Amino acid sequence: MPGKLELLLGPMRSNKTAELLRRAEMRRQYAKQYVMVLKPSDDTKGGPGMVESRNPNGHGSCKALEFPSLNPWEVLDAIADKEQEIGKRVECIAIDEGQFVTDLFLFSRHLLDSNHDVLVAGLDLDFRAIPFGEMLTLNWLVNAYGGNITECIAYCTCGQRALYSQRLIDGQPAPYDSPIKVPGDAYEPRCAEHFVLPGKPH
Ligand SMILES: [Zn+2]
Repeated sequence: MPGKLELLLGPMRSNKTAELLRRAEMRRQYAKQYVMVLKPSDDTKGGPGMVESRNPNGHGSCKALEFPSLNPWEVLDAIADKEQEIGKRVECIAIDEGQFVTDLFLFSRHLLDSNHDVLVAGLDLDFRAIPFGEMLTLNWLVNAYGGNITECIAYCTCGQRALYSQRLIDGQPAPYDSPIKVPGDAYEPRCAEHFVLPGKPH
């Protein structure tokens, strides 16, 4: 039977990763499922290896399998190896930072078709307020395969709900055309009124 998809969307600091790990832990603890947590890495040289990822919200640490963001397909071998090792199916695959994953739609669909439940957490919009990677396309998979969509909530310092991730470079709002990687950049959740994007074309 195909798996179901749980999609966790939201801006920076909406506790997406904490919620992903909470759900993974509940499946382990109560449903006795084997849950594999995956995390994309920009390092495309090495193959997948186990890393320790810290959850800032007190759920402790969680082992995650790091994989190259450009090639999630590499993980399929690791899943097969794990199933050999534990002598049963990996019931659930949890993917963090889904916005960075190339082929996210096809990869998620493949996992669902291979009878894994899939959890994906990630940013819906980038700092320019443009859909980030393939995250929003996963809505279709929730419709087709079942599951649920959770909009993780963040707040602006003014108290309004924050739908945007404000990028700051040296404390100043980052221009629309700022480079992908800038040392010392930071992000904070902002409401529509306080979200600032200098040089926005439209
Ligand atoms: Zn605000």
